[in-house]
Amino acid sequence: MVPPHEELPASFPERFPDSFADRWIADGGIVVAASERAARAAQASYHRHRRGEGAAVWAAPAILAWSTFVSSAWDVHARDERMVLNQAQEQNLWAGIIGIEQHLAAALEAPRRRLAALAIEAHALLCSRAPRFLREAARAGWDRDAGAFSVWLSTFDQLCRDRALISQSRLPLDLVPILQRSSQSRPPLLLIGFDRLLPIHKALFDAWGSWQEPVPGPKAPEIHFYSAIDEESEIAACANWCARLLHAKPDARLLVITQDIADRRGSIERAFLRATPPAAAHPAFEFSLGVPLLQMPLARAIFLFLSWLDGPLSESQVDWLFASVYLTGAPQEAFTLQGHMRALRRRHLARPQWTLDAFLRSGVPATAALRRVAQAQKALASARASIRTPLEWAALVPDLLRTAGLAADRSLASAEFQTWRRWEHALDLCGSLGFDGRRISWQDFLASLASVLDDTLFAPESTDAPIQIAGPGEAAGLTADAIWFLGVDEDSWPAPAAAHPLLPLALQRDHAMPHASPRHDAELAATILRRLIESAQTVHFSYAAQNENGETRAPRAIVQAAGAPQPLPAQWTASPQPPRTAVAFEDLSRVPFPPGKAPGGSATLTAQSQCPFQAFATARLGAKSWEPAEYALTASERGGLLHHVMHAIWAGAPDGLRSLQDLRDLTDVPTFVAMHVDRVLHDKLPAETKERMPQRYLNLEATRLTRLVGEWLVYETERFPFTLAQTESASNVNIAGLELGLRIDRVDRLNDGSLLVIDYKSGNVSPKAWELPRPEDVQLPLYASFACSQPGGLVFAKLKIGNSEFVGRAANASATLRADMQRTGLARKPLTSAQLQDWKSAIEQLARDFLAGRADVDPRDYPATCEQCGLHAVCRIHENRTRPEAEDEPEEFWNE
Ligand code: SF4
Repeated sequence: MVPPHEELPASFPERFPDSFADRWIADGGIVVAASERAARAAQASYHRHRRGEGAAVWAAPAILAWSTFVSSAWDVHARDERMVLNQAQEQNLWAGIIGIEQHLAAALEAPRRRLAALAIEAHALLCSRAPRFLREAARAGWDRDAGAFSVWLSTFDQLCRDRALISQSRLPLDLVPILQRSSQSRPPLLLIGFDRLLPIHKALFDAWGSWQEPVPGPKAPEIHFYSAIDEESEIAACANWCARLLHAKPDARLLVITQDIADRRGSIERAFLRATPPAAAHPAFEFSLGVPLLQMPLARAIFLFLSWLDGPLSESQVDWLFASVYLTGAPQEAFTLQGHMRALRRRHLARPQWTLDAFLRSGVPATAALRRVAQAQKALASARASIRTPLEWAALVPDLLRTAGLAADRSLASAEFQTWRRWEHALDLCGSLGFDGRRISWQDFLASLASVLDDTLFAPESTDAPIQIAGPGEAAGLTADAIWFLGVDEDSWPAPAAAHPLLPLALQRDHAMPHASPRHDAELAATILRRLIESAQTVHFSYAAQNENGETRAPRAIVQAAGAPQPLPAQWTASPQPPRTAVAFEDLSRVPFPPGKAPGGSATLTAQSQCPFQAFATARLGAKSWEPAEYALTASERGGLLHHVMHAIWAGAPDGLRSLQDLRDLTDVPTFVAMHVDRVLHDKLPAETKERMPQRYLNLEATRLTRLVGEWLVYETERFPFTLAQTESASNVNIAGLELGLRIDRVDRLNDGSLLVIDYKSGNVSPKAWELPRPEDVQLPLYASFACSQPGGLVFAKLKIGNSEFVGRAANASATLRADMQRTGLARKPLTSAQLQDWKSAIEQLARDFLAGRADVDPRDYPATCEQCGLHAVCRIHENRTRPEAEDEPEEFWNE
């Protein structure tokens, strides 16, 4: 099918004229872009034009980002002996100054670094917009936080003078008089992407010589404003629109601008990947904004490895490190180590944190990778005894990596290689922190490394993809054939933000600093809007009429420029379908369960009801969900202790009870319960768990359990007479040919001779869990239907402080359980033989399905069932749920 072309403007094939910059460069001029991003885009455009002209080689164009322009002008013209601080050095200098203050917020490393980042920003704002206030005397009246910053700034200035240093922010200021004094003629400058020329820009360009900004392009002939139902359909429509335009005109250049690019990145990436033809070698889009280097797997693995040599990692970090394979190299070794982690969990030996020593002592097989890591640890241990310069620590790191087999000579994919290069750069930056001769500990070096890795943005080299995705600020200087601006609702355009906390508000307002007043933000937003409208032939704006905070509205400025919002055109809301690479069919082949007992008992049939695949994965593949270790007892450990206590209490003579009469004969219930609780904590809690937990915490847990169980026994005292028939007893049943082992918490014989099946619960439970056709839990119905000769009821014993009660079904609750049951659900919905028969039939069907090997991924209540399950990684439900149903789609957009 040919996609509809009516959405393309008549003049679409003509590219928006952007050759002015090329001519400028050809005539000997220099292009200065407002940002690195704009400079890269201009260079890419220049190279594309030369390739389009058939050129084989050409000179690198004189296109520089503002910061590069300033640095190179400084190098050429300043002849200054001062050392220019890099970002990491300046951050450390400020952090050191802030740390000297005995300010509460500055006492810890992380807040000090955040304050240092704010101080750098405040300093840069003064340099670029209000340099008069760099003089200490001009700041005399500043108080509170601004006053504190003023003191830091004076110290910073003094340090820079004493040590012959200069900050990047000061370069342009110091450069202006140097250029003014020089009579040398310099190439003319063409500025691109400067939404607002700041005083420092103007001063420097004036001092440089001749400069100009490009004449704005004509207003886009096609401007539209769309309203989508929600964010997901808004992004999907944009992705479809891009796919259709590229299909119609493969050499088109498209620009997608979005608010909150960091937050929306995941959903945008998924929508655009879905709209990418499967045959494409690369995605047709790329993001302009990188991600922190610390989030790149290779850099993260290196950092975690270095951290583990001399400190603990969290359990999930250890898991991640083994799964990443960077440390282990061979997949087999990774499986072994991951298997060991699983075994530790099975044996209840999981810990929230693992030091390397503790992990090596945990019985882990001595794999080659672990031997290498242990060697690296030894190498560090001898160095760690002394404090060293950052340069010395940085020089040690490659040796440690080599020892652990994490060296650069391993084979790396392209993105990994780029990550490695960036990592080396970050390490060099950390080494450069010794510029002031300081010596630091290994832990301080690691803290600096973490900060640098977090501050360093990594973006893979541009593939010059036809769709560029950028934030509104970074889009300055970019041109395209068509632009779509996502997420422009009244609350987010202009983006709300606070004024700078370290500068006086009046000063910020006077100098039009960002977010100092709504008027200035609105003016800047209007400038950006104007720039966008003049940057392409087609410009679309859109917003989601509904977001997580409720309804949103269209901003007035966009309505003025593009008219009232219209609903999204239908052709963009339908997802373009990739050509089918597979035909969907119902897989009827099933592998029957072999004869024998099924593991898991009634939980296997509960899982079969919850989701057939869950039963298959747990009972036949041995898959398990993962419960992270906690510093305190986990919910299941606490549940286990409760069951042990109840079992001990109802275990009969010599120390337990067997009947209501026994219970009523107790003279001191709290002491009786406390004795059992102490015994259980002593006998049942693993020694490793006791070692990890403070005795005071365990005492509190004992008090809580004693109170919980004591309250429950008081509740039971009011029951009609009963005797205990079984507690925690095991039995086997055969259900439609499936053998299952059962264990039930307790069975009481009631005053009418029938049996009450009891399950202890400390959370919220309800008999709704047994409702057909797909019960959420079959344990009690199964026991009552198949293992109980004369069921008189099945109940959850809800042990909740202040709210202990039975809930469930009973044949005659107000005559057999307690006299006060008349108005409860137990009496209103009595247990009937018809109900028991219905459960029996449904459970037999579940057993037959399990035996037959039915394993479809079919959760009973998506997504709630899946949220409790934890097997997403095995069944990949989320990927499959979001994928469009190929069979239902009549058109094959990509497959004309
Ligand atoms: S995550 Fe959901 S779909 Fe996957 S096995 Fe569990 S319940 Fe089934």
